[in-house]
Amino acid sequence: MSTHPKVPKVYTPKDLAGGGEIFRRLNPPARLAIFGDPVAKSASPFIQNAALGERGIDSKYVRVHVTAEDFSESLAALPKADFLGCNLTMPHKLAALPLMNSVSKEANLMGAINTVAIRDGKLEGFNTDGPGFAAAIKEEFGMPLSSLRVLILGGAGGAGRAITVQCALEKCPSITIANRTLEKGTALAEEIGKRLGVGVDAITFDQEILTKALEASDLIVNATPLGMKEGDPSPLSDLHLGKNHLVYDTVYNGGTTALITQARDAGSKSASGLSMLLHQGAKAFEIWFGEPAPLETMREALKKIAG
Ligand code: NAP
Repeated sequence: MSTHPKVPKVYTPKDLAGGGEIFRRLNPPARLAIFGDPVAKSASPFIQNAALGERGIDSKYVRVHVTAEDFSESLAALPKADFLGCNLTMPHKLAALPLMNSVSKEANLMGAINTVAIRDGKLEGFNTDGPGFAAAIKEEFGMPLSSLRVLILGGAGGAGRAITVQCALEKCPSITIANRTLEKGTALAEEIGKRLGVGVDAITFDQEILTKALEASDLIVNATPLGMKEGDPSPLSDLHLGKNHLVYDTVYNGGTTALITQARDAGSKSASGLSMLLHQGAKAFEIWFGEPAPLETMREALKKIAG
């Protein structure tokens, strides 16, 4: 087994211009990338390069710092630079939709793309955040997402929307989204009702309403950014969690969030967003190469950097 060396360098859109000579000359050549702004702290190169090394694929995965302004041109430059595809992170997931030659049904419903595959020079858009979330829940709690009543905090945000749509696709017995801006929550609930025929309840962060929603839910998901910064409060404030609750915090900050602490104190089972990160990466690998990803190798690579 071989693993590629770590990839600390951050490239720029200029490196992609003129056929991306700089990427072809690397050993192995860079043929996969993550575009983001910021992108320097992305964990994706570590897990994807470990997978490429394990499978003996002669390609490297690099970070490219792409601003919103440079996004469309950078994406269009990838086929000429002989890339197989890329991942997208903030702020490009929504902007990518109209720039694709084709978009998967799931990515269309999720309104966002995090994985692009280049086939015959064409850009194909996918979203692996939703399926990655479902795989993480199965792995962390030993239960299929489809069996759980779910409450998604921040359910109408970027990651929240992918998770809410995934829950609807899996026909979870009940789906509630709590969104700070209620209108965004009700609009998403209405859209899912129309497009998938699945009922979704939209509520605000009102304590009394949240308490009732908690009582009627098995799985509580944090898809707000609360927990990313040290000292952030729990999105549930001091509301009551029970022993039977499963708590999944999509935040992965290398430490413990206030929500995870709250869950532990209440005796609830809890997990951080690292497993979602791992599984969305594994599903992207599967899209690019059409074969199962070396999950355990990717997990080990993630453990090393997550500490
Ligand atoms: P986003 O698009 O900006 O959405 C943020 C959501 O959180 C919105 O619903 C927003 O409500 C809500 N929100 C923001 N601040 C809040 C506050 N103080 N109190 C209550 N609600 C608040 O962000 P995103 O890109 O989806 O990221 C959200 C989280 O998902 C981040 O923590 C990120 O790390 C995590 N994530 C994890 C993974 C993974 O693989 N584990 C992948 C993607 C994202 P409004 O609609 O009212 O603005």
